[in-house]
Amino acid sequence: MMYLGYSDRVQPMLEKLRRFIDEEIIPNESRYNQELEGNRWSSPPVMQTMQAAAREAGLFNLFLSRDAEPFSQVEYAHLAEQMGRSEIAAEVFNCASPDTGNMAVLAQYGTPDQQKNFLIPLIAGSIKSAFALTEPAVASSDAGNIASMARRDGNGWILEGEKSWVSGAGDPRCGFLVVMCVTDPKAPLDQRQSLLLVPLDTPGVEIRRMISVFGYDDAPQGHAQIRFDKVRLPADALIGRQGQGFEIAQDRLGAGRIHHCMRSIGAAERALELMGQRAQTRYAFGKPLSELGGNVDVIANSRIEIEMSRLMALKAAWRLETAGLQDALIDIAQMKVAVPNMILNVIDRAIQLHGGMGVSEDTPLAKMWAAHRALRLSDGPDEVHREMIARNEFGRKSQSYL
Ligand SMILES: Cc1cc2nc3c(=O)[nH]c(=O)nc-3n(C[C@H](O)[C@H](O)[C@H](O)COP(=O)(O)OP(=O)(O)OC[C@H]3O[C@@H](n4cnc5c(N)ncnc54)[C@H](O)[C@@H]3O)c2cc1C
Repeated sequence: MMYLGYSDRVQPMLEKLRRFIDEEIIPNESRYNQELEGNRWSSPPVMQTMQAAAREAGLFNLFLSRDAEPFSQVEYAHLAEQMGRSEIAAEVFNCASPDTGNMAVLAQYGTPDQQKNFLIPLIAGSIKSAFALTEPAVASSDAGNIASMARRDGNGWILEGEKSWVSGAGDPRCGFLVVMCVTDPKAPLDQRQSLLLVPLDTPGVEIRRMISVFGYDDAPQGHAQIRFDKVRLPADALIGRQGQGFEIAQDRLGAGRIHHCMRSIGAAERALELMGQRAQTRYAFGKPLSELGGNVDVIANSRIEIEMSRLMALKAAWRLETAGLQDALIDIAQMKVAVPNMILNVIDRAIQLHGGMGVSEDTPLAKMWAAHRALRLSDGPDEVHREMIARNEFGRKSQSYL
């Protein structure tokens, strides 16, 4: 049976989470932004205050905890939706990307030492992390193009190459990177690459620049371009087996895309909420905006599209949980195209109803639009997922689909 609703376990947690976001996070968003203005590349003090309150409320580490059974994919998808209502919420609960993906990788494939030195501090919230696959020199939507190379050197590795769009690497708390690189150029395409765990302070790791998204620096996490210049790593930097990088990355990205899309649905709910408030409280030509032109349709269509997207994303989560990644790939690909496009429409309508204010910093909408426009590229551009969906219709497989 396909059950997409709230389980007995997740229902009370969701209510608690929603209340916490409404009472402790959304009212602190402007303080967070003000504190960030003082020092853009350091975590604002209010983040620690909110995290302490989340710990106190039993809401820290909802993705992976040392003390509790993990939530199912569908349960966690509902929680991720709530976290998407505020741009800063996921971090408050230590559930931000790419940390959750890296937690899953280290929990499943990490050695005892990797778990002790990196996973446990990540779960404790004392460090953060990043994931480095994309490269400036090659079309990285085709993971088979990745050229950064690690070669064996005595008992260890020497890593060389350059990565871009490494989200989270600007944060001073970022302790390590999970780096996808070629370890055997002669192996079959899906076994050429491995994942290496690279502490950010390893000699030879150089952040060359931070990259902005439509002018937003996304501080304090940011997106870094990083050069690896003869970076010497121990043998146990390898995560999983040599040649297993593609498989582990695919595993990681599958669930990660569902979390991203569910957070987007939460963000779409927030945009619709703002749209509804504005439409009922602002008057023009003697009427509230809601009674002018086709504005009721605009609001109704947004509701319909959000509901359709949520069902699609929950179905992908259910398929991943019950049938495994390979059987869920097409559901995930469909969701990954549909949800970012849906939310861009909803945010655009909300911006329009806010007039000039909609494109300013006075609402979260402008930044939300930029972040979600980027989501049509990050984790794979729309076209790659569409190709995967169409190939499946033709009964063929995409070879280097990640
Ligand atoms: C905000 C943001 C955050 C990101 N965070 C990370 C991160 O943390 N770690 C990381 O490794 N990467 C990250 N990325 C990188 C992202 O995953 C890549 O940008 C994406 O995979 C596309 O790779 P590319 O930029 O090399 O584009 P290219 O591969 O050069 O593709 C360019 C365009 O070509 C077209 N195209 C490609 N393939 C096809 C096809 N099969 N059919 C039709 N058209 C096609 C598409 O229009 C595509 O957008 C991030 C990107 C952004 C914008």
